[in-house]
Amino acid sequence: MSLARPLLASALLASTTALPLTAVAQDAPLNVVSTIGMIADVVANVGGECVESIALMGPGIDPHLYQATARDVQTFQDAELILYSGYSLEGQLGDVLERFSERTPTVAVSPASIPPSDLISVEDIYGIDPHLWMDVSLWAKIAPTIAGKIAELRPGCADAAKANAEAYVSQLAALDGWVEESIASIPEEQRILVTAHDAFNYYGRAYDIEVAGIQGISTESEAGIADIREMAETVAERDVPAVFIESTINPRTIQAVIDAAAEQGHTIEIGGELYSDAMGAAGTAGGTYIGMIYENTRHITEALGGTPAPLPEVLSDWAETWGVTE
Ligand code: ZN
Repeated sequence: MSLARPLLASALLASTTALPLTAVAQDAPLNVVSTIGMIADVVANVGGECVESIALMGPGIDPHLYQATARDVQTFQDAELILYSGYSLEGQLGDVLERFSERTPTVAVSPASIPPSDLISVEDIYGIDPHLWMDVSLWAKIAPTIAGKIAELRPGCADAAKANAEAYVSQLAALDGWVEESIASIPEEQRILVTAHDAFNYYGRAYDIEVAGIQGISTESEAGIADIREMAETVAERDVPAVFIESTINPRTIQAVIDAAAEQGHTIEIGGELYSDAMGAAGTAGGTYIGMIYENTRHITEALGGTPAPLPEVLSDWAETWGVTE
């Protein structure tokens, strides 16, 4: 018996090396390149060991303004699957994505997953507000789309990807309920979210909080003096206790509102830094999609006078992994 094992092992090794190249490649993790971290994290959760999930844009990177570097082109070249959000979020990457879509499977996950009736229309060059990850119930819909693509490209991974997607979607359903409950604890007159740019329309609609962005949907245009004065008046009238800065946006616009409100005798605090168009650092809770939404909601709820709800049981593994204690 003890002799048979090494013999068997070497026989297996020999047969493995003799397999045609394509079959070997089928066993290697699928190289999936996503533009933003909010997609890459879903890929990692759904794909597990079947994928190598790479995000082009790291923490603090603004996707509206992002332009591809020579290195990004190389990253796309190595990809077996390219995923982007769509609806002009990655405005400057349009040409590059179009070029690569001719040779590599490329999916705009938002249009591929989210029904048109759930989209928010906006009156600017965008047409559709692209910040769909802000409504957890909508972003959950990209998980089965991604599982389907992984199954197509790695049939051996189909069952695992489907099961992972289902487990992840149930975590997101619990997160969605938790956000709703937490935001509902904010006194109604103070339930207004003031941020630099309009990234939170889906969040506002899903979780019943009024949203006021000073800049437009994109960050490509800057807020004017009139926008800032108007916002300062609103904040003073409503006695809003806090406004928020964003990790991908220069905080000077928000500081200008705070200064303008101070001139009118109203003191506002900065309620914390929110993740709007990028997640936090890798290896931290905020570097996951769940953590991004969780930390944003905690900051918003606490700064506006509410109390975050207890975290649902189905998220306890996530909380433990990332050292999140309520
Ligand atoms: Zn944005």
